[in-house]
Amino acid sequence: MRKVTLIPGDGIGPEVVDAARMCISATGVEIEWEVYPAGQTALERYGKLVPDELLESIRRNKVALKGPIITPVGSGFRSVNVFLRKELDLFACVRPAKIYPGVRTRYDVVDLVVIRENTEDLYAGIEFAEGEDATRDLIDLVSRYGKGYIREDSGISLKAISRFGSERIVRFAFEYALANGRKKVTAVHKANILKFSDGLFLEVAREVAEEYRDRVEFEDIIVDNLSMQLIQRPERFDVLVLPNLYGDIVSDLCAGLVGGLGVAPGANIGNEVAVFEPVHGSAPKYAGLNKVNPLATILSGVMLLDHIGEHTHARRLEEAVIEVLKEGKALTYDLLPPGEQDRAVGTREMAEEICRKLA
Ligand code: NAD
Repeated sequence: MRKVTLIPGDGIGPEVVDAARMCISATGVEIEWEVYPAGQTALERYGKLVPDELLESIRRNKVALKGPIITPVGSGFRSVNVFLRKELDLFACVRPAKIYPGVRTRYDVVDLVVIRENTEDLYAGIEFAEGEDATRDLIDLVSRYGKGYIREDSGISLKAISRFGSERIVRFAFEYALANGRKKVTAVHKANILKFSDGLFLEVAREVAEEYRDRVEFEDIIVDNLSMQLIQRPERFDVLVLPNLYGDIVSDLCAGLVGGLGVAPGANIGNEVAVFEPVHGSAPKYAGLNKVNPLATILSGVMLLDHIGEHTHARRLEEAVIEVLKEGKALTYDLLPPGEQDRAVGTREMAEEICRKLA
């Protein structure tokens, strides 16, 4: 039996993860789940935000399904999620944005995939606080090298983008496009201003694109132009590949194009390990209310099934989701217009309806 690590997470995490586990089980794929907490729940139970047992389990099983996690302020951790991505070298964040039938959106057709570099850029967490000795040294260094003037009372976050990191994420995007029948890769950057970080990303993207030129189309676009074009003509994009910060922002934008965070799945993928999780966070105000949409996590489960080679079951689960959406009878509050909120069902009830379609 296939073993998969399960991290229920914090806030609404346990509810949506439970719903996804139920639906995956209903496909008939036999999975033994190894359940470990992380984040706030783990801190309360193990005295540690990321228990060693959890990391060992993910490394052993190579696949995990994860709920959103809260990183308590003052815990000494910048972000448990960033830590997990770095620790497990989950360098590629894959977030498909596709309009499913029955989901209310402003568009008719959106079917694109955001591939975000997960380990570098401003999110590497290399920061210098205002007034520290190291910050003063850095400010002096910048001035000594004639690189510009930084005000003394500045806080500084470093943006480093490497040739290595750029090449592997762009190559990942092209391989993803080939494996998934996608036609075009668009590299997103701000190389006109950030010549040495985004400029390097773009230079490497163009080099890698050359190797695929007969098989996958390539273009590049400046991130501000992309933001405008995504709103005006989202159907013109296929696979987007972006450095970390732009990827974070653009993937939420794309979730908005296809109906919101309730329907946006994701995966963090490395060479060894893959962790599947919804794009949304732990929405603490809804925790324990059996109210939020489980689809983002269930669709992350579809991605997980594909990843472990269970393609037939992945398609069956996705079809079951589509059927429930089309019927429109068992929908959570976020999928209904304001006037119809009284007919919303709970997280569990929606998942149960999906399971019935799989029976
Ligand atoms: P959030 O995604 O938790 O919630 C924002 C809003 O989106 C919610 O108030 C709700 O209206 C809506 N929403 C989110 N998930 C939904 C769902 N499944 N169904 C219906 N509506 C949904 O974002 P936030 O409030 O900025 O973050 C809350 C906490 O989550 C923070 O502690 C943050 O750090 C954490 N977070 C964790 C992850 C992760 O673990 N991957 C990702 C993002 C945020």
